[in-house]
Amino acid sequence: MDLIASVEEKLAQLSAQSLTRRRRVADTRCAPLQVVDGRPMLAFCSNDYLGLAAHPRVVEALREGAQLYGVGSGASHLISGHSRAHCLLEERLAHMLSPWLKSPQALYFSTGYMANVAVLTTLGMDSGAMIFSEELNHASLIDGARLARAGVSVFPHGDVAALTSQLEASTAATKIVVTDSVFSMDGDMAPLPQLLAVCERHGAWLVVDDAHGFGVLGENGSGALEHFALSSPNLVYVGTLSKAAGVSGAFVAAHHSVVELMVQRARPYIYSTAAPPALAHALLTSLDIIAGDEGKALRAHLASLIAQLDTELRLARWRRPVSHTAIQPVIIGSNDEALQAASDLHARGIWVPGIRPPTVAPGTARLRVTLSAAHTHEEVAQLTAALNDLERT
Ligand code: PMP
Repeated sequence: MDLIASVEEKLAQLSAQSLTRRRRVADTRCAPLQVVDGRPMLAFCSNDYLGLAAHPRVVEALREGAQLYGVGSGASHLISGHSRAHCLLEERLAHMLSPWLKSPQALYFSTGYMANVAVLTTLGMDSGAMIFSEELNHASLIDGARLARAGVSVFPHGDVAALTSQLEASTAATKIVVTDSVFSMDGDMAPLPQLLAVCERHGAWLVVDDAHGFGVLGENGSGALEHFALSSPNLVYVGTLSKAAGVSGAFVAAHHSVVELMVQRARPYIYSTAAPPALAHALLTSLDIIAGDEGKALRAHLASLIAQLDTELRLARWRRPVSHTAIQPVIIGSNDEALQAASDLHARGIWVPGIRPPTVAPGTARLRVTLSAAHTHEEVAQLTAALNDLERT
């Protein structure tokens, strides 16, 4: 058997279904105006919601962190890689989330993917556990549920009644409900207050992946729990630090015993080199900005851009699901048409990714527009004019 030929056959199958993905090369920093593959582009693709990825103060803090701690941690956290910078970051994050969680501690991970796998494999480590997973959850939650020893039951998108029935019918010793707060491909929000109420009634954990909410939602940018004013000892919160916080990594905040169990048992935490301490150091500055007046102003500007897009887009054929967040999908349908739309925008100097299955359901291929506080009203006007025009042609 020709091994390479079998791989090439798989690639050919992807190509035949218009499912081949390609990477574009950004030659410049993450910002609305970028040089991509050597060409100037106006970008609406990143999750850098507050424009902190290239913020001068955060860049300077990273430089300072490298001077203080060097560029690598040298080992995993439990060996020798856990630095003062990691500690300070975790303390700050626990403090930020403390109004909403009981006796919280925070744990910093190199990525949100790892944090989600760690949470679900730790809480769901017993075979008597059951994970109730929202239909549109991020791939990292799906993979975390697969890796846990628990059973998995998927509940339909936003359907609190269906979840309630599943919980009522379950005899599992440990029940874990898990959901994104802001759905990454649709931009809508989970009904967290209702989900928490159902979880409390059934003695279930509620794991909230607030990847797209931390830094953006809530008066002080503390995320979805602050936005909805939710508190419970049974909440396990995951926030990413690569999106609104502009750097890299993620954290879990939960009751200190939950975090301690993760330190003892979570394989993605234990068996991976600690992220560079300089990143944790830079993140302290990101958090200062998020929680301060500048963060408030950036969130207000982002909200005004979202409102502008909503007013200016006039689409008849393409569908726009209701989204009040920075994630604004335009659903086109077929893979080919979505790719064509992305490529037509690209020809006009605008970079918006086309998203296809398996990231989204078949028949719902889309353009995924993401807005950032770094965008100007003029740039958003350029995007909406191009989309309105393209849809008609
Ligand atoms: N959860 C959600 C909802 C996400 O959108 C993402 C990343 N796109 C992650 C988790 C994973 O985070 P990271 O990129 O830090 O691995």
